[in-house]
Amino acid sequence: MDLSHILTHLGEERERGYDAVVPPIVQSGNFTYPTVAAMRAVVQQEMERPLYTRGFNPTVAMAREKLAALEHAEDALLFSSGSAAIAAGVMSFVQAGDHIVCVQKPYSWTKKLLVELLARFGVEHTFVDGTDAENYRRAVRPNTRLFILESPNSLTFELQDIAAVVAIAKAHGILTLCDNSFSSPLFQNPIDLGVDMVAHSATKYLNGHSDVVAGVLAGSAAHMRQVMSKELMTLGAAPSPHDAWLLMRGLRTLELRVNRSADNAEKVARFLEGHPRIKRVYWPGLESHPQHALAMRQMKRVAGLMSIELDAPDEAAVERFCDNLQRFLIAVSWGGYESLQWPVCALKGPSGYYTELPFTMIRLYIGIEDADLLIADLEQGLARM
Ligand SMILES: *Cc1c(COP(=O)(O)O)cnc(C)c1O
Repeated sequence: MDLSHILTHLGEERERGYDAVVPPIVQSGNFTYPTVAAMRAVVQQEMERPLYTRGFNPTVAMAREKLAALEHAEDALLFSSGSAAIAAGVMSFVQAGDHIVCVQKPYSWTKKLLVELLARFGVEHTFVDGTDAENYRRAVRPNTRLFILESPNSLTFELQDIAAVVAIAKAHGILTLCDNSFSSPLFQNPIDLGVDMVAHSATKYLNGHSDVVAGVLAGSAAHMRQVMSKELMTLGAAPSPHDAWLLMRGLRTLELRVNRSADNAEKVARFLEGHPRIKRVYWPGLESHPQHALAMRQMKRVAGLMSIELDAPDEAAVERFCDNLQRFLIAVSWGGYESLQWPVCALKGPSGYYTELPFTMIRLYIGIEDADLLIADLEQGLARM
């Protein structure tokens, strides 16, 4: 199925009488039937037919069909956040006494899921340096049920050789879940590399306009049925139909936006790498990245998120640089049209999760503005540091 068909037509049910070019937002929590017998028939299939929007909604269903096709999966579920999608995908396949192996320094709330929430329910975990797939094998115990991958991981952009980690998992009968938010389905498809479940923060590239928080979990029909009927229905992190519609609106331009962001990122990364006041650029698209060859092998392109380390003497200098940038909003999240900066020194808190990172580190999201203007802005910020 070609990409433009998925993004502009698939699942939109124009033939079912709506006749609308843009699909309708079925903003209804519940659905009605002409007879008791008709209701009885639907109650048996409340996750496939309209009964109650937590289980099924026509607008959400359209988005799900597109998302499954994008990730080459049999089915995809939509959640009210990426964290909900990851939590549901993880929790559905473990129980008390089981063990999970996860890449080190994953997204912060994925880490909290393992360290703070699942630990309370007797699920054990080990974090491993995923730059060597063998570390996953070394961490396997008889009770290991799940490997969590995030390639590249948040902030430090360490890759896992996805096919190699999957081979180790399959040899031990272990399931795999990969957070693919960074690459989007355009640049990396973990299911093609044998991964069982792919998670996305749809808040980022998939929606692309910084106006929705949503999440996706994609995988086999059987796995998705299990997650839907247990974690999604009981924990209830269902998306709103309006958010599903906004997400589809964002998907229309996915290819344009993400390629433009990646084009810009390449220019910005090369500029920063050559600047004397930049100590290090963490972006797998650079030849200097220690895993550049792996990145080129398993990703089609490298997306627009990167970290930098400034050559700054103290936190005041870091703040001067950040405060002087005009074209990078100081904000968390990423994936919209606007460039962002996320200085680590602003988020080092009592949680201690960022204490291992240098205070000179800043995560930059490169949006879809004019790359030359972004570079000029970084140049003046560095000059005033
Ligand atoms: C933002 C993000 C998440 C969490 O998604 P939410 O939609 O914020 O819940 C998970 N993984 C990665 C890599 C992210 O960037």
